[in-house]
Amino acid sequence: MNKLKLLCLGLLVTAQVWATNPYKYIIDLTRVSDDKVLVELAPPKIKQSEIIFYLPKIIPGTYAIADYGRMVSDFKAFDKKGNALEVTRIDNNSWSISNANKIARISYLVDDTYDNPKPGPEIFQPAGTNIDEGKNFLLNNSGFFGYFEGMKNEEFEINVIRAKEFYGATGLKPEGVDTKLKGALKKEGFVQADENSTVDIFKVSNYDRLVDSPLMYSLPDTAVVKVANTEVLVASYSPNKKVTAKEIAASISEVLAAQSKFLGGKLPVEKYAFIFYFTDKPVVSFGALEHSFSSLYFMPEATIAQMNQQLRDFAAHEFFHIVTPLTIHSEEIGTFDFNDPKMSRHLWLYEGMTEYFAGSVQVKYGLITPEEYLVMLQEKILISSQFKDELPFTQLSLGALDEYADQYYNVYQKGALIGMALDIKLRELSNGAYGVQDMMKGLSEKYGMEKSFKDELLFDEITAMTYPEIGEFLSTYVGGTTPLPYEEIFEKVGVKMLSDGTKKQYSLIISQQSIAVAEYNGKRLLAIGNAEALDEMGKSLELQSGDILLKMNGDEFPELGPEINNFMGGQFQKIPTLDTLTVTVVRNVDGEQKEITLSAPNKQIDVPIALSLAFNENATPAQLKLREFWLTPKN
Ligand SMILES: [Zn+2]
Repeated sequence: MNKLKLLCLGLLVTAQVWATNPYKYIIDLTRVSDDKVLVELAPPKIKQSEIIFYLPKIIPGTYAIADYGRMVSDFKAFDKKGNALEVTRIDNNSWSISNANKIARISYLVDDTYDNPKPGPEIFQPAGTNIDEGKNFLLNNSGFFGYFEGMKNEEFEINVIRAKEFYGATGLKPEGVDTKLKGALKKEGFVQADENSTVDIFKVSNYDRLVDSPLMYSLPDTAVVKVANTEVLVASYSPNKKVTAKEIAASISEVLAAQSKFLGGKLPVEKYAFIFYFTDKPVVSFGALEHSFSSLYFMPEATIAQMNQQLRDFAAHEFFHIVTPLTIHSEEIGTFDFNDPKMSRHLWLYEGMTEYFAGSVQVKYGLITPEEYLVMLQEKILISSQFKDELPFTQLSLGALDEYADQYYNVYQKGALIGMALDIKLRELSNGAYGVQDMMKGLSEKYGMEKSFKDELLFDEITAMTYPEIGEFLSTYVGGTTPLPYEEIFEKVGVKMLSDGTKKQYSLIISQQSIAVAEYNGKRLLAIGNAEALDEMGKSLELQSGDILLKMNGDEFPELGPEINNFMGGQFQKIPTLDTLTVTVVRNVDGEQKEITLSAPNKQIDVPIALSLAFNENATPAQLKLREFWLTPKN
């Protein structure tokens, strides 16, 4: 009886919340014009006579300014009779509307961020938008829908007009699929579906949820797998069909199964969506972005075999964000200000700990070997050494949007290493019984999705939960200027740091040592200056001194200039996905200049590195015991 009462109360509360004052949006994906889509809004009731409409300057999880409003044009507001109201664009992301209490309809056009660069910061692709008519629409909602000042917590209804054969992949539960526009939106003035199109409807309780729930529309390529108690949707857009959702699902479900064990046998969400957008264009950067019930991936198109480890690393990282910041976060993240963001000092927790878990789960449950795991850590130390080691990590975090934006990438390197050091330290102090997994579980139980911690009190909180030595560790190595004492930490688990060694990696074929400059057809191009200095890959391609470089792996070399860096960045991403490498050169053969294409099987080569990690074969029983607690599941 009691239970029933509670349930009824729940329903009542829900009904009240949802029956308030909704935003009703339409986005039309069927009539793309000049690479833009039309967005229309029947606004919630507005009381004041003047109001500001915003698109976000920044969204959670990206830690970089985006200025989504740049993509909006032709912004108009109308009253009931269809008369235009006065609108003033204040800046990139905001519009002031007069006679706001009379607004009946707003309409504007939105360009996408993928193929239409506007002046201003480049938007991290997993947080970006794509409009590729008839093929793919990537709706990161921050790029399409806005909110009125002071009205972020109303309900949002999104009506998507789509081609009948398209499918919308999302972590949201739809309100209606293949249906019709309803209520206010059926009125004259609003765009309507035609005989070739149909409507999907989604509802969310506020603007944060809307931004937290991306959608991808394309021809369906999906797979559904069950992991522990969670239904997992995998959706893929692979323009040349190199990879399928089914293959991805098979690969990442192993990781997810390990993650559910890592989190105590249960996952904290009922439904979850992995949304993959693969590009066949050369890319300089790629990555993924986490949400509460989904994650979105922007990656170079490749076969499953070529991307397997990368895919698993990404999926593990993004999925682990269901722990932090989603259920452990400070006020700055909990009540996120989209247009005047404040940063938290704890990126070591949100990103660092998540990245540490993503590696740790794989070694603990046998998806990678302990030796492979050491290589993963060694790589992080090497990359981290290119950043400011004396910069307190809390300062880096507070300045990640501006002053220390150039140090941000270190959160995935040193941030994860802080997680590792803390884990080993906790295991040592507790005789193996307690590690960072337990610490995070404790924090998540104390706070959770709705309750934020005070940013400046987190270290005290963790110290009170654990040991005074941990408080000292945090203030010295995370809040202080002292670099992490790697040697001392690794010593505890019987791992040696060696100052020389080699590692396997893909070759970029040319290097500073081997190149020269040459003129060809009036252009200044790169050439091979010293074939002796080529690496193993360059030698197996049989490049010769004097060869002028025209193409690499089918892509034409730009003329000498800053473009070369982007070009080589693209090759850096592309090469690991190729079975065969090719280089087209101009070579002097018997006094005649000839174009020749050289090719050789792609392979990883040995390169010297400044530092490597290795298990100490003469480790003491105490070291071996702690190592076991570190690298294997507890109990
Ligand atoms: Zn992350």
